[in-house]
Amino acid sequence: MRDFYEILGVAREATQEEIKKSYKKLAKKYHPDLNAGDSEAEDKFKEVNAAYEVLSDDNKRQAYDMYGEDGLNGGFQGGSGFGGFGDIFGDIFDIFGGGFSNRDSYEGNKNIPRKGEDITHQITLEFREAIFGVEKTITIRRLEECKKCHGHGTEDESSKHTCERCNGTGQMKVQSNSPFGRVVRVVTCDKCHGSGEIIEKPCKKCHGSGKETVNKKINVKIPAGVDNNIVIPITGEGNVGENGGPNGDLYIYLNVKEDSVFERSGNDLYLEMPISYVDATLGGKIKVPTLTKLVDYDIPKGTQGGTTFKIKNEGVPYIRKDAKGDLYFKVDIIIPKKVTDKQRNLLEELRDNGGNGNEEIKKERKGFFEKFKELFE
Ligand SMILES: [Zn+2]
Ligand SMILES: [Zn+2]
Repeated sequence: MRDFYEILGVAREATQEEIKKSYKKLAKKYHPDLNAGDSEAEDKFKEVNAAYEVLSDDNKRQAYDMYGEDGLNGGFQGGSGFGGFGDIFGDIFDIFGGGFSNRDSYEGNKNIPRKGEDITHQITLEFREAIFGVEKTITIRRLEECKKCHGHGTEDESSKHTCERCNGTGQMKVQSNSPFGRVVRVVTCDKCHGSGEIIEKPCKKCHGSGKETVNKKINVKIPAGVDNNIVIPITGEGNVGENGGPNGDLYIYLNVKEDSVFERSGNDLYLEMPISYVDATLGGKIKVPTLTKLVDYDIPKGTQGGTTFKIKNEGVPYIRKDAKGDLYFKVDIIIPKKVTDKQRNLLEELRDNGGNGNEEIKKERKGFFEKFKELFE
């Protein structure tokens, strides 16, 4: 599998500035204009652009770091591949300077294919769904091509013609006089509003916009081990592009509910385990719940309250490697609130013969008072 960091020749922890710098250098080196007819350079150029599109976008980079290229298209959903170079046109033009570097004229030209807008959606997961993975069907609202006019915005093709005021450029020159002489400004054509086309009979369904808002059902495969603040990008499921440009992307934000028993920190799980003071004193076998079963655990004799024990590999699975975190349980020693007369007699006997830990308590208290001795002198 190709490695985007290797392609751009940067370290995995590279800053955005380093990534951009390296990208500019490589894009220039392999640009088709400077390597006419060299198919190897062309392939390199495409690869460099694909790598930059991902690593320059923090969300996509995060997904790539976690899931690899699968995370970007198709890994979670029957994705539709990369969204094209729409996002990075500006960067390429910046590199070469000259006429194209004027971003205003690039953005002002309404006929250039442009990527649709990205949209976001939040999914709330149950604690266990995030740990074991789940498939969810969500409904998103997005802009799609109008089904009636197929995006043309017209009732019929013949009712569309080139704007006569601007000759289809979408722009007009306006002259005005100023104290410094005649000034010529370029403004958006007021007749076609920059589209360069006039629609006599706009589509009745979309009122000429060529787009309609639809509710779309999408299946999302959420891998095991996800957590709060993870973003799953689904390429090409955002709003429809302009002038045949690619669709925007859909970003799924995850929100995971808490659990009443386990607390999660990264891939490890934490649990508070009540045990009896007899088991704590003498040692004993207890049953500890994991995510899937109860496991036997031997508590050693003399266990103090608050001691934490670890059960290996009973935590949350890692997304990209075949491994799991651990389960930690902290013992909470429960003191009985009520005892029978017989039990009281036994306990009192225990206290009289020192079996209640008197010696240890004395030792602890001595250390305690020594620490504060100077306060009392
Ligand atoms: Zn016009
Ligand atoms: Zn329409």
